[in-house]
This record gives sequence, structure tokens and C-alpha cells, in this order.
Amino acid sequence: MATETFEFQVEARQLLQLMIHSVYSNKDVFLRELVSNASDALDKLRLAALREDGLDADTSDPHIEIELDQKARTLTVRDNGIGMSYDEVGKLIGTIANSGTAAFLQELKEAQDAAGAEGLIGQFGVGFYSGFMVADEMTLVTRRAGERSGTRWSSRGEGTYTLETVDDVPQGSAVTLHLKPADTDDQLHDYTSAWKIKEIVKRYSDFITWPVRLLPQATDGEETPEPETLNSMKALWARSRDEVSDDEYHELYKHVSHDWRDPLETIRLQAEGTFEYQALLFLPAHAPHDLFTRDFRRGLQLYVKRVLIMDDCEALLPPHLRFVKGVVDAQDLSLNVSREILQQDRHIRMIQRRLTKKVLSSVKEMKANDADKYAAFWREFGAVLKEGLLGDTDDRDALLAVASFASTHDEEAPTTLQQYVERMKDGQDDIYYMTGTSRQTIENSPHMEAFRDRGVEVLLLTDPVDEVWVDVVGEFEGKRLRSVAKGEIDLDVQGGEQADGGREKQAETYAALLGWMKEHLGEEMKDVRLSTRLTVSPACVVSDAHDLTPALESMYRAMGQEIPSARRILELNPAHPLVQGLNQAYQEGEDRSGLSETADLLYGLAVLAEGGRPTDPGRFVKLVAERLERTLR
Ligand code: ADP
Ligand code: MG
Repeated sequence: MATETFEFQVEARQLLQLMIHSVYSNKDVFLRELVSNASDALDKLRLAALREDGLDADTSDPHIEIELDQKARTLTVRDNGIGMSYDEVGKLIGTIANSGTAAFLQELKEAQDAAGAEGLIGQFGVGFYSGFMVADEMTLVTRRAGERSGTRWSSRGEGTYTLETVDDVPQGSAVTLHLKPADTDDQLHDYTSAWKIKEIVKRYSDFITWPVRLLPQATDGEETPEPETLNSMKALWARSRDEVSDDEYHELYKHVSHDWRDPLETIRLQAEGTFEYQALLFLPAHAPHDLFTRDFRRGLQLYVKRVLIMDDCEALLPPHLRFVKGVVDAQDLSLNVSREILQQDRHIRMIQRRLTKKVLSSVKEMKANDADKYAAFWREFGAVLKEGLLGDTDDRDALLAVASFASTHDEEAPTTLQQYVERMKDGQDDIYYMTGTSRQTIENSPHMEAFRDRGVEVLLLTDPVDEVWVDVVGEFEGKRLRSVAKGEIDLDVQGGEQADGGREKQAETYAALLGWMKEHLGEEMKDVRLSTRLTVSPACVVSDAHDLTPALESMYRAMGQEIPSARRILELNPAHPLVQGLNQAYQEGEDRSGLSETADLLYGLAVLAEGGRPTDPGRFVKLVAERLERTLR
């Protein structure tokens, strides 16, 4: 077949540009990435050989080899792993199939300085393409295990690549870098130097479970020495803590997570007894872009006695810990277990429970000992952890113990529920919260007025999941969790002003107006009543205590569920001149059509204030404009 030329997908091209004009200062890591891919390919071959009976693959001496050619200035990383088919090369190397890519590239465009761009590249990780940091041309020759012909891919990183079918290709992949011209001052980055390559492999890839061999360079006349194995292949999780440096742990994290940055926390766990296993878990420092998408790849690597038997093993952790990366190595599991069986396996469930406890206790410790680290962790992953509160889980208490929330108590520092309870006022029985899209919209919402006036603390919940868990959890230490935007609020705490006698009298004064308005606003309204939560605004809309909030309704609708709109309640502030004036006009029997308009306007304002949309926005705007115009006459 002839050589065909293809264009890189737009995103891939943009990334390549970045690589070539290298925003990343540590170029050595290209080798880590190529060795990591080769190691993955050997893992995949082992797993495929295990699963597919008839696979015609060579598994006799799985290894990775590096070949240097000083004269030609090339470096080749070769593996005899799974390889890629012609189509796979186009798909895997020609495109970037990560759902976060678009968002990532947007951020990249916005990052003006090199440091910002470097941070972003780091968080994305660009694997194979990182070769272009040091090479001006890359060639990949590969043959998929079980297939006959191979594929040759080649690119100068400039927008196009070529593909060609080739014969007589060994199984696996060989990536050859045509290194950029040598910089004579730059001895440190001479990637044709055996010494340099040994150092990089030792530093970044020592734990790789397959041998990484350096082929001897051809020297004229002399006898060629044996290839040298550069890595110890020792499993880090099987070594004692003081034998392993933090950097080594971090490199393992990068290999399993494909993240380029150090993890926030490393968690070790050794379980002894009848069912023995070791785990090495990592909390990433940053949430990946696709954490909330369907195709997020969650799960840990599962080993049985040092042999990888499953990548992305989901059964080892609950969904709300899906951001945790790492390795579990068990002593007594069948090598040939399927995902379905694992989901049911008693031992795996035991491991899951134990790992979950361990992660949560580590977070708790972090919270007690390193406030900044905890804050960073919670900012990145709090919203995911809170998903754990939605189910009927054993770890609800542990989750609530490490959870923190923004609160009116402090502009900056979030609070725990425990701390909230300790600050509750005499006579306050409930924990108040309000949900919304941002701290600012919540704080400006009319629902907060009475709380602010009386100094009652309110939790400000801005993650979509907050709408739901508060209902599911219901209470904390016997105190109800109550939305300030739901039900009747009786702020009978110290400092509460309104006497009951005053309220009764007010109720009488307004009874007729309220009745008329309810009738006027019609079906949409469940009730129109006087408010105890407003001090400044004329009106607000609230939900009944057990109804879904509008935000929740739209969430369910977005998930495709049909639900009727809950009827809302309009509350009027009897202390507001507009409401007082309306009442007076009503009692004086003023023109009903003018009154109707005022009632509609009041309702529209209340809806707007909670971030909603008036029923008929066009008419609302017209009415407001007319009234404003009158003020100018
Ligand atoms: P990642 O490793 O994070 O998936 P890379 O850019 O490093 O991203 O690699 C892209 C994909 O190309 C890999 O997921 C893999 O499917 C394929 N690939 C890369 N190198 C090899 C290799 N040596 N053997 C087989 N497949 C490979
Ligand atoms: Mg990779």
C-alpha cells in the first residue's frame, strides 16, 4: 500500500505546536512517557493473552529496549507488547480523544505566560507527543499482536503525518526520535548519551515492572557487550516506607495516572492476615477536566502477586472516590477474574471498604495537620466526595466529618458542620443553608435578609450536588438541615424582634390583600403570605418545605426525568413601603387593573431576585419601563 498523508485533528495540532515550541522546561520526561507507553503495551499484551485464548502473540520475553545512535542522532524505544493496528495508529496517535481537551485548550489560549502554559501542559500530560520536545521528526513502526502486517507512522509534528502499511515488522512498537540538532553547550540534554539515558530511566521509570534494557552502541571492531537492564523493577508498594523516596512514589503516580504533576498525598496500606494485600493510593493535586463526564476513566490498577491483572478496576473504590489513583496488589485472587465477578467478590468488597476508610481517615488527618493542603484538596474534590452523601452508605459520618462549606460566618475560611453547631445561637434548633450558583448571588438573595439581620449563620452551598445531599442527609447531630428558601422561617433566636401580638395584627390587616393576590396570581401560586425572612426586599418566592427547588427540578429535567413544577409561595414584606402602599390602595378600592400590575411586578421582582425568570419577561419589562417613565414626569 502507498504512503498516505493525513492531517492531525485540530486539537492535536495545537498541542503539537506547544510541544515543538516547548513550553515545558523539563524535557527529560519525554522518555518517561515513551517508557510508560511501552510498559502499558506490555501490560495490555499480558492481559490480552490471558483473556483471548487463540491470540497468536509472542509473550516469551516481554521487555522494553532503548537504542541510541550517536551518529544518526536517533533514539529508539522499542517494546514487544500489544502494538497497534493501522486504524488504531490513526485513532490513537492522530487525535486526542479526551473530553476535556476543548476546555483545556481554551485555558491554554488564555494562559499568557509560559509558566501558566507549562502548568497546563503538566496537568494534561501529552504522552506520545512529548517526543517532539526533543525531536524534529518521530517515526513509529508497530504491529498489533495477532496481526500480520505492520504500520509505519511518521511526522515532523507540523500538522500532518503519514501512514503506510509495512511487512516484516516485529510485534509491538518502536518509536524512533530524530533528535533536534545538538546544542554544543548543552551536555546535560544530550539524549544520545548512554549515561544520560541511564539516569533518566533510573529517576523516572525504576519501578516499571518490565525490564528496560539499553542496547550497547555499535563500536568498530570490538565485541558487542550485553544489553544492560536499567531498572530495578521493584514494586514500590512491596518495599518499606523508608526505602522509597517521595520522588519515587510521585513517579509511580505519574505512570498510573498519566498526570504530569506530583500528587497531593501518598497513602500506603498493608493488610495482613488471611487475605493479604498492599495498596498504594494517591490523591491528585488537581481535578482532571473530565472528572464529571461519563467517560472519565476511574479505578485502580489491580495486581495479583506483582502481576497486573486489571487496569482501571472500578470495584476497588466507590464512585465518590473515583479521583483516587493507585495500585492494589492482592495475594490470593484468581489471575483470570473478570470485571463482573470482581464486582461481586467478597474480598474485593472488603478491600473497597478498607480503602475507603483509609482515604477518608487520611483526609481527616490532613485536615487536622495541614490546613492549606486540606483546603486545596477540598476545593478540587469536595464536590465529588459529597456525592457519597447521596447514597445510604456506611461512610456518611466520616464524609460529614471531613466536609467543609462556605458560610456567612467567615468570608474566607469554610466551616465544618461541627463548627457550625458549636456556634449556633441560643434557641436556634436548625442548621440553615442556602443553595445557589455562587456565593455572591446567595448573599444578595432576599431570603438571607432576616438571617443577616439577626446574625444567624447560613451555609452557602454552590455545588449542584448540594441541592440533593442536604435532603438525603436531613440532619446532623440531631439538628435539621434547613434551606432558608423553603418553608416558614421562625427565627426565634436571641435578638429576634417581632412579637407575636404584632404578627397577629398584621395578619388581620393584610388578610384581604393576600387573598385577592392569591386569586389574581392563580394556579401558579400555592400561597401568598406575609414574610418573616425579609427586611429590605418587598417580596420573595419560597418553596414549600418538602417541595423540590427550581434548581433541583431543572437538574432532574436535564437528566431526562419528567416532573411537574412545584407550586411556589410568594412572601410579602409587611415592613416595605411598596407592600404597605399596595395594601392601602387595595383597601381604598383603587382601580383593580393598576393593582394587578403592581402584584405582577412584585411577583416578577421576587422571581428575578432568586435568579429565576419572570413568567412573561417581555410584559414584565414593559410594565417596569412604564412605571419608570412615570417617575420622570
Ligand atoms: P496515554 O498514554 O495517556 O493514553 P499517550 O499520548 O501517551 O497517551 O498515548 C496515546 C495512546 O497511544 C495510548 O493510549 C496507546 O493506546 C497508544 N500507544 C502509545 N504508545 C504505544 C505503544 N508503545 N504500544 C501500543 N500502543 C501505544
Ligand atoms: Mg502515555
